[in-house]
Amino acid sequence: MERKNCFKLYNEAERAQLENVAADYRRFLTDCKTERESVREIVRQARAAGYVDMDELIAAGGADLQPGAKLYRVCMGKAVALFRLGEEPLLAGLNILGAHIDSPRLDIKQNPLFEDGELAFLDTHYYGGIKKYQWVTLPLALHGVVVKKDGQTVDIVIGEDKDDPVFCVTDLLIHLAQEQLEKKGARVVEGEALNLLVGNAAQAEAEPDKADEKTEKTAKQAVKANILRLLKEKYGLEEEDFVSAELEVTPAGAAREAGLDRSMILAYGQDDAACAYPSLRAMLEVENSRRCACCLLVDKEEIGSVGATGMQSRFFENAVAELLNLCGEFSELNLRRLLQHSRMLSSDVSSAFDPAYAAAFEKNNVAYLSHGLVFNKFTGARGKSGSNDANAEYLGWLRQVMDEAGVHYQTAELGKVDLGGGGTIAYILALYGMEVIDSGVPVLSMHAPWEVVSKADVFEAYKGYKAFIEA
Ligand code: MN
Ligand code: MN
Repeated sequence: MERKNCFKLYNEAERAQLENVAADYRRFLTDCKTERESVREIVRQARAAGYVDMDELIAAGGADLQPGAKLYRVCMGKAVALFRLGEEPLLAGLNILGAHIDSPRLDIKQNPLFEDGELAFLDTHYYGGIKKYQWVTLPLALHGVVVKKDGQTVDIVIGEDKDDPVFCVTDLLIHLAQEQLEKKGARVVEGEALNLLVGNAAQAEAEPDKADEKTEKTAKQAVKANILRLLKEKYGLEEEDFVSAELEVTPAGAAREAGLDRSMILAYGQDDAACAYPSLRAMLEVENSRRCACCLLVDKEEIGSVGATGMQSRFFENAVAELLNLCGEFSELNLRRLLQHSRMLSSDVSSAFDPAYAAAFEKNNVAYLSHGLVFNKFTGARGKSGSNDANAEYLGWLRQVMDEAGVHYQTAELGKVDLGGGGTIAYILALYGMEVIDSGVPVLSMHAPWEVVSKADVFEAYKGYKAFIEA
């Protein structure tokens, strides 16, 4: 059962390949901090690899799809499915790589802008599970869209370019924090205190002779007024436009190599880009696979896989139905059979052993950084509750596939039996009666603004996903 640190096992060629994957992965992390940015980049890469828009084929009234045909379908700019036809008929089922492309963050509220103490703030509601105290005093960036009433979409990215301003959430100075530090960790920083500091400059005063009641009023909110003026000048936005905006606050800055040995990567959003990126790369590189392949990258996992763009949506099932139809094989029964004959690696990050918090883990059944791709037979907590418990038969088959391809892998649980747990998208696909297992990459400081992974584990995930797709 012993697993080795992968860096012990690599030859020079493998090290070079690992560094190549890691460099591309870092670029992906830096460019794709939100689900929308991820989908845009995934579609760009897919199209460059010869993928065509399924909806265009549907609109054209069909297509002559041969083995090797590559199609993609986007859901509302936030989720995407890639399909590649193999030698075997579609009805034999798909080999599916699934992961999510949303990450914990702060979302801007619909009526967010206020001034207090001559400081202007955007009010937020955090998204996903976060330790709120981790999100104060860091440089933060704004990513997202504002949709105007006329349908025009304004794309926003502020805080990523080196000349951009950044934002932050303030914290109470240590000198006055005696009472704050007595509070439980969950309340040290309250959710309603997560306000994004966006301004302090007051609007220039109007000429005295022009002063009327209105300017008197704005003078009292002169910092907010100045922010509104800037939003109008720079982006053509009115305050009301926040109503139809999706603005996400993420840590500002690029993904970095970490450690003196540069063995790791420190970045925002590695849950779940550490799985989504290798899944995408494996999918795009596959040539001549026997079975049909699918890479499914979805939104909203961090808040329960809900909504039209989350895994619980019919988006995936509808896309498969359309694919069957394009192949001239659609029937309700064929759809059910195809899904049932499919198999999936549901990929999400796993908690890596952290010696500073050793008591949270069971040493023989925890993932270790640089020990390779992780398989979680089950996740869940307190009696495996909420888990997709993969079949032993499926695991037996996977061991063979991984060993044949020389993939280094390990098995793990999230933490100690009764300590907690987390969900993934695995159980949702399992509802179709297909074989599904949780797999992924170990992470330190999961859900923190900056998370740590090992380059080796991302590399092994990529190798493992490729072997799975080709199996
Ligand atoms: Mn997560
Ligand atoms: Mn995740």
